[in-house]
Amino acid sequence: MPFSFLGLSPALVRAAGELGFAAPTPIQSEAIPAALRGADLLGCAQTGSGKTAAFALPLLQRLEQGPQHTPRRTRALVLVPTRELAAQVGEVIRSLAQHLPQRPKVAVVFGGVSINPQMMGLRGGADVVVATPGRLLDLVQHNALKLAAVEVLVLDEADRLLDLGFAEELDRVLWLLPPKRQNLFFSATFPPAVQVLAETLLRDPVRVDVPSTPANEPSILQRVIQVDEKRRTELLRHLIKEQSWERALVFVATKYAAEHVAWKLYKNGIFATPFHGDLSQGARKQVLSEFKSGQWDVLVTTDLASRGIDIVQLPVVVNYDLPRSAVDYLHRIGRTGRAGESGLAVSFVSADTEAHFRLIEKRQHLSLPREQIEGYEPVDAEAAASAAAAPGTGGIKGKRPSKKDKLRAAAANLSSRA
Ligand code: AMP
Repeated sequence: MPFSFLGLSPALVRAAGELGFAAPTPIQSEAIPAALRGADLLGCAQTGSGKTAAFALPLLQRLEQGPQHTPRRTRALVLVPTRELAAQVGEVIRSLAQHLPQRPKVAVVFGGVSINPQMMGLRGGADVVVATPGRLLDLVQHNALKLAAVEVLVLDEADRLLDLGFAEELDRVLWLLPPKRQNLFFSATFPPAVQVLAETLLRDPVRVDVPSTPANEPSILQRVIQVDEKRRTELLRHLIKEQSWERALVFVATKYAAEHVAWKLYKNGIFATPFHGDLSQGARKQVLSEFKSGQWDVLVTTDLASRGIDIVQLPVVVNYDLPRSAVDYLHRIGRTGRAGESGLAVSFVSADTEAHFRLIEKRQHLSLPREQIEGYEPVDAEAAASAAAAPGTGGIKGKRPSKKDKLRAAAANLSSRA
């Protein structure tokens, strides 16, 4: 079905076409007609499913049809969890709005940078505001923005908003909004806190659950490689060269590790660069756009880049350090295999992390084969097996046996066999 069948204006259909969207994705074909009717929406779809356009297109059509005001009033508010996602969503909305006769002003605001330019940017009002909740509240407090005319509220990645501790800010924002409005609610997962939020927010929502079918499921090959912790960088280097990975996103646990691993790769002739929250906003933006345009082959990052960031043609994601939760795992690997492409997600597991990875697999009803790469076989393999078999080693901090515990257990094992 083409975009023109969804009830969108020709200007929006044209803009979607220019972005290379030939036909709507499943979430778009379900969500757009419902949102155009004015219904509240509860969208549950995988990352990379095209959900930004699913809310942006009906939102823009609504703005186009409504009365124009001078100065502009904020009629649509999009709340997102991170600054990177804010910038990206803002960009998509602007691109989709480019042929509208009355082009709306789209303001993107987020914390971590000076508030003054954002206040200046809001002078004269903005029709659409894409914001992280904390900075939005700061701007309201500074009288830079009023939310009394909001007609459409979008919550994008609601699970992440709550994960990041935005519950209180969200509550305060909701109090500032007029009760009569359309709510478009998107989340990749629905833990209880997200369900409660959806129930309080939405009125008779149309639920858009895009089922996983081979046609829309990103084809991501998940590989798990056993390797000793201290040899991971070496193995990574080997894989990048041996398997000719052209572009890879490598996840590590700390900012220090991002710097360290990127530097080690770089010293060995691989164009790798770190990406983490200590970089200034300007530096982050630059690094991302350089990675997107192919100037860097490897981006070594903390979980900062695990959500929302859209990098087209990213063939490989590596979990150098494992993510803390199954949800984070899903988000990390969802960076690859976007928009129908295939992708590869590689996780390194060691003696210390095997039990934790099993928990991630269990939560996702997965059981992935373990591989070893010739020349990089772990010498701790036996310890890994006994760690995995040990009861109560669910990867919960403080409950896992320490290395010393494992050595003691191994010694006890040996002496009981002798
Ligand atoms: P999103 O889930 O909104 O982050 O979108 C994921 C990727 O899919 C982005 O690269 C979009 O540009 C792309 N995309 C969104 N809608 C379509 C469509 N209808 N056809 C092709 N690609 C799309």
